[in-house]
Amino acid sequence: MSTHPHFINGLEGADIDERFLSDWSGLVIGRPAVVLRPRNTDEVSAILKQCHAARRRVTIQGGLTGVSGGAVPEDGDVVINLERMNRIEHIDALEGVMRVQAGATLQAVQEAAAAENWMFAVDLGARGTCQVGGNAATNAGGVRVLRYGTMRDSILGVEVVLADGTIVSSLKGLVKNSTGLDPRSLFVGTEGTLGVITRLTLRLRSPMGTLSTALVGASEFERLPQLLRRLRQGLGENLSAFEFMSAPFVEMACALTDTPRPLSGDAAWYVLVEASGMPGESMDERLQDVLAAALDAAEITDCVQATSLAHAERLWRVRDSIPEVLTHLKRAVTMDIGLPWSETADFIAQIDEELKARFPNAHHLLLGHLGDNNLHLLSGPLDEHEYEALEPFVFDAMRGRSGTISAEHGIGRLKKPYLSVCRSDEEISLMRRVKDALDPQHILNPGRIFD
Ligand code: FAD
Repeated sequence: MSTHPHFINGLEGADIDERFLSDWSGLVIGRPAVVLRPRNTDEVSAILKQCHAARRRVTIQGGLTGVSGGAVPEDGDVVINLERMNRIEHIDALEGVMRVQAGATLQAVQEAAAAENWMFAVDLGARGTCQVGGNAATNAGGVRVLRYGTMRDSILGVEVVLADGTIVSSLKGLVKNSTGLDPRSLFVGTEGTLGVITRLTLRLRSPMGTLSTALVGASEFERLPQLLRRLRQGLGENLSAFEFMSAPFVEMACALTDTPRPLSGDAAWYVLVEASGMPGESMDERLQDVLAAALDAAEITDCVQATSLAHAERLWRVRDSIPEVLTHLKRAVTMDIGLPWSETADFIAQIDEELKARFPNAHHLLLGHLGDNNLHLLSGPLDEHEYEALEPFVFDAMRGRSGTISAEHGIGRLKKPYLSVCRSDEEISLMRRVKDALDPQHILNPGRIFD
């Protein structure tokens, strides 16, 4: 093969649209030689057989909403973009199992499940654009991990194409299957470094009942773990979200989205709480009782409970305004570190003052999913030098702690230099050995996670 694989649907040269050059990180490295958009697994296999024979570097693309640069191609890459592999193939409405092509968007999967009176539980702000294959490759989290787990917990089976074009189809929709190595553990969360995910068998859940939503204010971060414990004990499995936000984030989000301030008092921290029971069952009273007890115990200082769907949507609008905030703060760094509860308040105290001192012209906004040990930091606007310096500063502060540098976005290209902050030499060496075994020529997504 002289230049690149010859395939239908291939885009070359000036036909390659700018949208294939980058993801939500904004990182641009180069122009691929060709963008291929296969329609089925056999086409993916045929492409990879040629790339393997010619030792061509391949970049795999889903919906390009990733923020770690994992889907960003280099000069001369063969891009395999999954956008045309978007079919919902089958729904077993009795058992609650769906089989889909990996390029289906998360929203299409959610809507197809809802049409059969089931629910696909993974949910995130990029739902309209991100693909379930991308969600699987990054083991996406989102706002309902507290109750339903990450993407990994909603996948029953995977089909992948290996670097040499071999198709491994492991799509049985069984909840339990103790028969040796489970391909899901190799491909979910490994960011396309071991294979192209082409189809998935997904686990559907019973729809949530009417949602009860509240926003509470607290004066100290240290109070939030106790509040979460109280909500878990009072609401059990019915607690579906616990999203904390710092006051500066809430102020900016309200201003940018023309949303009225949700609470009148001056809280330092806000938490969006959501609970739901069975369809037809309201959790309003139980939520109210637990929050009243939290007020008595001074864990929270203020509280508003949504009185209508529109009211609840206004409260969620604040939490969902990250894209507007990031656009406003451009050039901004967005981080998704993870820490145990016991270390989170101390870590915030450690970095807060230093961030303000070292990067005085930037806003530093904190929010996250406390129940999943996940803390997001949005910092900006930053000049080029500050942009380069901020992440290393935060990651250095994490050394010696029992955290992770990426709780849900993945390592991609951008966080690769810092992998050793949270992974031991032995863990990284294990990853390399698996990569060498499955992709000895390192043609699949090379330079992601590690070199
Ligand atoms: P891409 O960005 O296209 O790719 C991501 C990585 O997966 C790349 O390494 C790519 O090579 C690989 N990949 C993609 N498809 C495949 C495949 N079929 N086979 C093998 N490898 C593949 N993330 C969260 O976890 N939680 C959130 O709450 C969240 N909120 C977000 C909100 C917004 C507004 C935005 C823009 C992003 C958010 N993200 C969130 C990040 C992003 O949406 C997720 O990482 C998502 O899972 C990426 O899916 P994608 O299809 O866009 O993948």
